[in-house]
Amino acid sequence: MIRTCFLFLVSICALSAQPAYDLLLKGGHVIDPKNGVSKVMDVAIAGGKIARVAENIPASQAKTVADVSGLYVTPGLIDIHVHVYAGTGRKALTGDSSVYPDGFSFRTGVTTMVDAGTAGWRNFPDFRERVIDRARTRVLALLNIVGGGMGPDGEDNPRDMDPEAAAKMAKSHPEIVVGFKTAHFNGEGWPSIDHAVQAGKLTDLPVMVDFGYITKERNLTTLLGDKLRPGDIYTHCYSGHREELLESGKLNPAMEVGRKRGIFFDVGHGAGSFYWYVAIPAYQQKFPPDSISTDLHTGSMNAGMKDMVNVMSKVLNLGSSMEDVIRMSTWNPAKQIKRPQLGHLDVGAGADVTVLRLDRGNFGFIDSAGARSGGTRMLDCEMTIRAGRVVWDLNGRAAQDWKNFQYRKRPRPDKK
Ligand SMILES: [Zn+2]
Repeated sequence: MIRTCFLFLVSICALSAQPAYDLLLKGGHVIDPKNGVSKVMDVAIAGGKIARVAENIPASQAKTVADVSGLYVTPGLIDIHVHVYAGTGRKALTGDSSVYPDGFSFRTGVTTMVDAGTAGWRNFPDFRERVIDRARTRVLALLNIVGGGMGPDGEDNPRDMDPEAAAKMAKSHPEIVVGFKTAHFNGEGWPSIDHAVQAGKLTDLPVMVDFGYITKERNLTTLLGDKLRPGDIYTHCYSGHREELLESGKLNPAMEVGRKRGIFFDVGHGAGSFYWYVAIPAYQQKFPPDSISTDLHTGSMNAGMKDMVNVMSKVLNLGSSMEDVIRMSTWNPAKQIKRPQLGHLDVGAGADVTVLRLDRGNFGFIDSAGARSGGTRMLDCEMTIRAGRVVWDLNGRAAQDWKNFQYRKRPRPDKK
């Protein structure tokens, strides 16, 4: 009995000697818009979760301490418009024009990506098996209302738009599917919008709209004033392709009407959907976006768009504050896709965290047409933490010096 008690005491002592936290991000400026935080604080992570956010958490309480002073510490970024249905061999967005999520997410601070309708209600299981379930990035999806998604057959065939089938597929994958998407429609009438909204109604999920090609009948006034529901998302809000900005230079009044009705406006930069001649007047007329997203695909990433932090830098230079830019890329998109467990640093939340560096100088930013606008501030990603693990560390802030590092010899793989 005495011996048991003694062992018990010894094990308690051993436990208390162990650092409480796996990782401590020390000295950074924390911006956590959901919790109204914007000040220098430390963030402690344990067991893959946010354990504590406070001033002056002792370094001795953590196994690893990363000095992030002079940098911004934010919730892991959420990019709600990407195309990541890669690897099928097709010459379409459902293939060669998509990218694999992990190759582009962490290096730019993104921990959650939402595929915006690359797969439709019919080919979603293939997308999930091929990409989503194999990625370390959290990948969620908006299901295209067209069964084949953004495949070689295009998105104009109303007979392939099936709200019941889309709703059924969404309900069988509730942990991944966060809504529906319609895009690129160039047919007659409103079938793409009406069917997508119907799928949204059947599931109580939002619809993201790329409004395709407008006609006299199919215009922004009817879309934003009547067809879409509060909570639906209008992406490509600075494209100008759908008269977002009128020829007079005034913002289309339908945009304000939509905002008042509770429709969200998303950047969706892409290769053809963000232009300075639209974004700058829109900002001057006090119309910032609700969410920042990239519309990442092979056509946009090497052109003006580049990556999430570049698009965030553009919004910063347009005149939004750092706090608003972080809100637009964390808590706002989390709310838009109805995932309130994401996009903040609540104690107990999954530890998805991004560390950003804000450089000051003379920079240039390119829009989808290739036109440049100068700016004085540029964000870059220093560190990304996904579920408590460091998955991107530009300057080795969480790494050990090589002189103290315990190198191990590479084992020889077993011969088959
Ligand atoms: Zn897109």
